[in-house]
Amino acid sequence: MDIETILLEASEYLPQVDLEIIQRAYERANQAHGGQVRESGEDYIHHCLSVGHSLVQLGLDASTIAAGLLHDVVEDSDITTEALRREFGDEIARLVDGMTKLSGLDESIGESSAPRTTHEAENLRKMFLVMVDDPRIILVKLADRLHNMRTLKAVQDNARRRRIAGETLDIFAPLAGRLGMYQLKWELEDLGFRYVNPPAYNDIAASLNERRQERERQVKAFIERIERALAEEGIAGAKVVGRPKHIHSIYKKMQRKGVSFEQIYDVRAVRIIVGAIPECYHVLGVVHNLWRPVSGGFDDYIASPKDNSYQSLHTDVVAEDGKTLEIQIRTQEMHELAEFGIAAHWKYKERRRQADQAFENRIQWFQSVLATPRDEDAQAFVDLMKSDVFRDQVYVFTPAGQAIELPVGSTPIDFAYHVHTEIGHRCRGAKVNGRLVSLNYQLNSGERIEILTTKRGGPSRDWLNPDLGYLRTARARQKVRQWFRRQAREQNIDRGRDLVEKELRRLSLEKLKLEDVAKLFRQDSLDDFFAKVGTGDIQPSTISTKLAETGTEEEAELGLPPPEAAQLATLDTSIKVKSVGNLLTNLARCCNPVPGDAIVGYITRGRGITVHRKDCPNILRTDEHDRLIEVSWGEDKKTYPVRVRILAYDRTRLLRDIGEVIGNEDVGMSHANVTKAKEENLATFTVVLEVTDMQQLRRVLSQFELLPNVLEVRRIAG
Ligand code: MN
Repeated sequence: MDIETILLEASEYLPQVDLEIIQRAYERANQAHGGQVRESGEDYIHHCLSVGHSLVQLGLDASTIAAGLLHDVVEDSDITTEALRREFGDEIARLVDGMTKLSGLDESIGESSAPRTTHEAENLRKMFLVMVDDPRIILVKLADRLHNMRTLKAVQDNARRRRIAGETLDIFAPLAGRLGMYQLKWELEDLGFRYVNPPAYNDIAASLNERRQERERQVKAFIERIERALAEEGIAGAKVVGRPKHIHSIYKKMQRKGVSFEQIYDVRAVRIIVGAIPECYHVLGVVHNLWRPVSGGFDDYIASPKDNSYQSLHTDVVAEDGKTLEIQIRTQEMHELAEFGIAAHWKYKERRRQADQAFENRIQWFQSVLATPRDEDAQAFVDLMKSDVFRDQVYVFTPAGQAIELPVGSTPIDFAYHVHTEIGHRCRGAKVNGRLVSLNYQLNSGERIEILTTKRGGPSRDWLNPDLGYLRTARARQKVRQWFRRQAREQNIDRGRDLVEKELRRLSLEKLKLEDVAKLFRQDSLDDFFAKVGTGDIQPSTISTKLAETGTEEEAELGLPPPEAAQLATLDTSIKVKSVGNLLTNLARCCNPVPGDAIVGYITRGRGITVHRKDCPNILRTDEHDRLIEVSWGEDKKTYPVRVRILAYDRTRLLRDIGEVIGNEDVGMSHANVTKAKEENLATFTVVLEVTDMQQLRRVLSQFELLPNVLEVRRIAG
């Protein structure tokens, strides 16, 4: 390669541009690398010229070509980026600087002490960052990598050679594919494969070679057959060519399908290139007239282009020998796009007709770029790459530097779900480049995302509301829905449990065993019971009714008296103390137990036995357990003092209404107290009622609750 060829070829597609800068870049590079040789023994400048020529073949602008020639000068000579900026201007200096920053990607890879995966992640991160900065840097990088791979044989260190080849397969070839540059992709793949897995490469290469004559003879026959048919149909100017086989793609196909070379080697492939889109479909009809299509073997990438804008018709047909023939049909323009990817857009001026409006817009973008002298449009090209190739993706990073690809419009929640489902569920906040953002923030390429999670909990129902813009990806949306489906029962159970506990609290029955309450509703499983309360199948307000109304069996278990036993009785005889017979008993003033409460006796010094509720704080606190004695309610009942607190918005006549309820129920009231909080207009009534049993208490509490302005009614201790 020499500079004259580069200048000549560049002038063919850059007629209006002064190519002097390319000439100057060459001279500067030649001077800077003077005396340097590559491992192959070649003068270093050959590497620079080769990179420059690849960029010319890709049809890139003069600045990029110049940067290609200069790409190693900062790295390998004493020329600084500053010096380049003075000599060649901002743009070229920036491109070379980007390449220098990427230099760790190949030249130092052998020296890295970091684990391979970490190192690769860091490489990818760097690469995506510079790609976001200016995608042309990646094109220079690919041209650089291509020449390094073509001359990889000269690298003496076996392990280093293998690492470079592996990285080419893992990173650079897929990247070229993403950019639609299949020509480059295939060459990088085959070169990489050759050094990563030499035996497999050599096997396939030898097998291909062995059958080359036969294959070429067959393909030649197919081509002639198609050409005849096209001529009969009056289709002129179509180019029918055999499709080269790529060793690495054969290998991948063998791996993917788990078959031997023999089973796929004879898959023959031809490509038909025509002038315009209608002809593509015309040719398709001709081909299907010749050979029967394989079912499921047809793809219309013209009507639905691939993400990277790739277009073609693909059809597999069965030839006379019963074996498959793969046929691709495309226009010349599609062909160049497929071979050179994004760089090929550069070359097109023709107006195109496309049904796909989005594609039409992109083409118009290209045309507007091409309508003005190209070399002044480097920035437009940069924007073009961003808007077109990466039009539907953003690249963002985890705090560890791992690159994540997401659709445009993705949010931190999409990101969180992409990283891990659990992180998505527990996502509560996000930082972008260290700054807190809202969860419906739209991510941009190059941003570093940190997800703030809670220890427990799940997604919000709001996330599913499309108007709020929390989720962009179908994957995240699906995960959230799954969570709610799975949680629905658990949520109902939680809600049911809350309702039951609230009702028991209201009646100051917290210490009732929940299992026993569930049994009142003939629910063996507590979860089933809560779930039914949660869904509203069981009303928690019926708990106290059930407590009072159900048969004796359950009540015995609950330690409640049967309704008929709820009669007036004297205090003294109403309590039976098991195992010690009747003793002097007192109802404790601290917790004022009433029949129905679970109770326990406390043996006092000299005052007999005091009966407490089992959940009385004084009882729970005592460590004199030998003083506790089991007691139960006797048959005869009297009334029992119960302290009730009523919280209400104050109004006139409220106290009178409360008194009316008490009077109607024929409940005695031994004490009443009102405190008022003026600011909030709240009143708290504390009354001590003399009730005969739980049932009566429940009725009174419910009637209090029905009074206007009453907020809360609760039985309280003491
Ligand atoms: Mn280089």
